[in-house]
Amino acid sequence: MLYEIAILAILAAAPLVFVLLVFISAPYGRYYRAGWGPSVSSRAGWILMESPSALIPPILILAGALRDGAPRPGAVSVFLLALWEVHYVYRAFAYPFLMSKSGKRFPLSVVLFAWIFNGLNAYANAAFLASPAAAALDSRTPVLRLAAGCVLFIAGFLIHTRADRMLRALRERGGTGYSVPRGWLFEYVVSPNYLGEMIEWCGWALACWSLPALAFAVFTAANLVPRAMSHRRWYERTFEDFPRARKSVIPFLL
Ligand code: NDP
Repeated sequence: MLYEIAILAILAAAPLVFVLLVFISAPYGRYYRAGWGPSVSSRAGWILMESPSALIPPILILAGALRDGAPRPGAVSVFLLALWEVHYVYRAFAYPFLMSKSGKRFPLSVVLFAWIFNGLNAYANAAFLASPAAAALDSRTPVLRLAAGCVLFIAGFLIHTRADRMLRALRERGGTGYSVPRGWLFEYVVSPNYLGEMIEWCGWALACWSLPALAFAVFTAANLVPRAMSHRRWYERTFEDFPRARKSVIPFLL
């Protein structure tokens, strides 16, 4: 029952979050502002916000808490969980230590909102991976679909982490300000890091072929597309030399 509720909640929240974020930019990073309650350092904010996604699925699955009479998770489920962990261990435990020091704060209210989504999302996807349906993945998953999903996931992750690196490099000399990123996918979109993340979760959804994975991919786009649009408007306002042909997040389109 909680499984169905979690998926429905994520799917129902996606359009609401999209519309909300078109009008109100989530108050962290360049949009950090007072009035959102107590805050922590950016590094602590990212660790707190993302660690449940890294920890909940393996803990629930290893503890057998979700098995519901199903056989042990098969090799395909374990592999899909490993891909999930690649992303979330990076996001929760590597990225916060790699990110450039801006001295910015991170509101705990954003962390709390994210926990609601991350908790439901981690639970629903872990429940799927530990379900009888996923146990049957080993024998039933068409190899081509699984391979295509994995290739997309890996390509997305590489785009995502390279974009993160290039953004960090903008502050290599120790500054805390902003400049217009140049080169590679930044010539086409202002947020290739978001593009990479969206490709990752579309690939994962294709590989899993499950409703919670699809809901996750939809929600990721609902969250990141409006933020990329805000970034693009912000660059246009802030830098006279911003190349106006550059899109927000999907080359040539959006
Ligand atoms: P941003 O692109 O806004 O910022 C990423 C980092 O680069 C920050 O440290 C930022 O500094 C710095 N930066 C960005 N632009 C510039 C610039 N022009 N000059 C100098 N430094 C710059 O990404 P977010 O902080 O929103 O997100 C970080 C990661 O988390 C992304 O890769 C994203 O994909 C992921 N994420 C995923 C979500 C999901 O729904 N799955 C939700 C939100 C984020 P500063 O913080 O000072 O602005």
